Amino acid sequence: MAHILITSGPTRQYLDPVRYITNASSGQMGCFMAQAALDRGHQVTLVSGPVSIEYPREVRLIHVVTTVEMLEASLGVFPDCEGAIGVAAPCDFQPRTVSGQKIRKTGEPLVLELVQTPDIVATLGAGKRDGQWVVGFALETDDAWFRAVTKLHRKCCDLVVLNGPSAINSASSEVELLDPSGTTAGRFSGPKQAVCRELFDEISKRLIRPFAPAM
Ligand code: C5P
Repeated sequence: MAHILITSGPTRQYLDPVRYITNASSGQMGCFMAQAALDRGHQVTLVSGPVSIEYPREVRLIHVVTTVEMLEASLGVFPDCEGAIGVAAPCDFQPRTVSGQKIRKTGEPLVLELVQTPDIVATLGAGKRDGQWVVGFALETDDAWFRAVTKLHRKCCDLVVLNGPSAINSASSEVELLDPSGTTAGRFSGPKQAVCRELFDEISKRLIRPFAPAM
C-alpha cells in the first residue's frame, strides 16, 4: 500500500473581500483519481481548493483556498508520501496587492497587476527524495505533445497526463499518458471515472513499488 498525495480542484485568489479570480475546475478528475487509488488499497491525502462535489469519505481531506495554501499543505504531506499526482488547476496568477475593502466603481477601467504564484508540482518535483515520484497534468490547446513533454521535464515529473480543453465541464475526457522520453504510455477516453481508473493502473504499474507482505 502506498500513501499518495493528490491535489484537486481550482484555487482562488482574492482581489478584495468579495471578488476573486479562479480556474475552471470541478474537482471531478481529482475525485475519481482518489477513488481509483483507494479501490487499489492505497491511502490518499487530497489537498483541494473550493469545489461543490463530494470526495470519498476514506480520503484525508485538506481544504485550501489559495495556491500558496495548496503548496504549503502539499509540502506538509509530501514527505510522508510515496508519490503525488497533481490533478488540481491552481491559479497561476495572484493580484500583487489585495484590497482590504470592496473595490468601488469609478467609471474608469480597473487595472489589475498580477504576479505569478508558485508552481506546486514543480516544487514537489524539485524536492523529490529517492524513490518518490510525481505525476503532472497538462491541458494544452496547441503544440500539445511538445508542451506536455517540456512541462514534464521542467517540473521534474515522472509521467505527464496530456488532456485537451474539451475535458472542462464535461463528464468525459480523452487523455494521453507520456513518459520522460515523450513516448505514449497509454491513451484513454470515455467517462472520467473509467479514464481515471485506467490512468491510475498505468501510473501504478510504472511508478508504485509492489507491496511486499511481511514475512
Ligand atoms: O503549467 P501548467 O499549469 O499547465 O501545468 C499543469 C500541471 O501543473 C498540473 O499538474 C497542475 O496541477 C500543476 N500546477 C501546479 N501549480 C500551479 C500550476 C499548475 O501544481 N501553480
